Amino acid sequence: MQYQRSSKLFAEAEKVIPGGVNSPVRAFKGVGGTPIFVKSAKGAYLFDEDGNKLIDYINSWGPMILGHAHEPVIKAITERAKLGTSFGMPTELETKIAELAVSMVPNIDKIRFVNSGTEACMSAIRLARGYTKRDKIIKFAGCYHGHSDSFLIQAGSGASTFGIPNSPGVTQGTAKDTLLAHYNNLDSVRELFENNKNEIAAIIVEPVAGNMGCIPPQKGFLEGLRSLCDDNGALFIFDEVMTGFRLAKGGVQELYAVKADIVCFGKVIGGGLPVGAFAARNEIMNYLAPLGPVYQAGTLSGNPLAMAAGLAMLSELNVHASIFERLDEKTAYLENGIRKVLTQNGVVFTINRVGSMISVHFNETPVVDFETAKGGDNEMFKKFFHGLLNEGVYIAPSAYETWFITDALSYADLDFTIKAIDKVSKTL
Ligand code: PMP
Repeated sequence: MQYQRSSKLFAEAEKVIPGGVNSPVRAFKGVGGTPIFVKSAKGAYLFDEDGNKLIDYINSWGPMILGHAHEPVIKAITERAKLGTSFGMPTELETKIAELAVSMVPNIDKIRFVNSGTEACMSAIRLARGYTKRDKIIKFAGCYHGHSDSFLIQAGSGASTFGIPNSPGVTQGTAKDTLLAHYNNLDSVRELFENNKNEIAAIIVEPVAGNMGCIPPQKGFLEGLRSLCDDNGALFIFDEVMTGFRLAKGGVQELYAVKADIVCFGKVIGGGLPVGAFAARNEIMNYLAPLGPVYQAGTLSGNPLAMAAGLAMLSELNVHASIFERLDEKTAYLENGIRKVLTQNGVVFTINRVGSMISVHFNETPVVDFETAKGGDNEMFKKFFHGLLNEGVYIAPSAYETWFITDALSYADLDFTIKAIDKVSKTL
């Protein structure tokens, strides 16, 4: 495939945008080469500026669960746009999507909309701190909760890809209130509670991790965290920015029947427009301004275009709940196909999958936490990535990312992908 125009556009972008991109992982630094500039997308496919057609396994890093330019979402946005694009005043639309989200997700009474997953998680911990009157939080190495200061401590995703999991610019004062535990390791959390008695406001976790590749919680891990929170008067925050409205209608709380106190959303909830949200039961949400003392706000929060897109998306997922089973079946088919061809070609690998989140790790050992995720063969991943790209299959340009499967993928697309992986894995 040819990427001359993308390369030219990237060179132009680099002159006026740091690194040529508005979010680091897009820059292909983890895999080398120049990023692909998208012209348009439809269903399961991307069409780039050089005229190439690619099967998309990223789907805007999750939101396009029903495929690109999905008709009902596009219609909702275009019709709404004609009525004005922002007011900074309440609209009925906000109540409608809030009612729907609250009806789909267990254990929440109220939800507040923001503009990104970062904002959702940042606001959730402020709320938890205000509610518990404690300062410290526990996060897990390799989990990513957006780029706000408190979370850039051993963060996964792009932060790991670039080898800067702890960012300069985050003060010591902020960093000292973020305590670090190990994913799938309850003892590491127990120890932090013992050493910081009555100081921990909350645990925040990706209940299925997706920012060090996909890592499922081991049996008892989430339940154990729930008990530790209850025993120590801390809140349990599920960062469901990736998993929310993707793994089940009610997210991981529904999937694994574990109760969270605050839930963060992003990606799917906005139907591809910039939306995040956080939600909890009344007693916690009523701590937020204007009802309570914890301040949080946003000029564009609840933006009508974003709410229209989100409402159209959630409505479809609510009505056609079989989508989640279908996605699981499609992803299982892909998983089995990849397993078969990689095994036949003698490649050492581990595949992790939960529902429509899947990742291929070039590791000999199981990948259960950040340490094991880091043990993958990055050189092999780079070859794998570029080999697939050359075949017209686009996966995330980093070994630390999850693939997001869209319902727009046909079985023919999946077979095409498995064939491409077969071909590429012979060259690894
Ligand atoms: N939490 C999780 C689990 C995420 O995966 C992400 C983004 N990938 C975020 C938070 C931050 O969301 P955003 O990029 O919309 O700020």
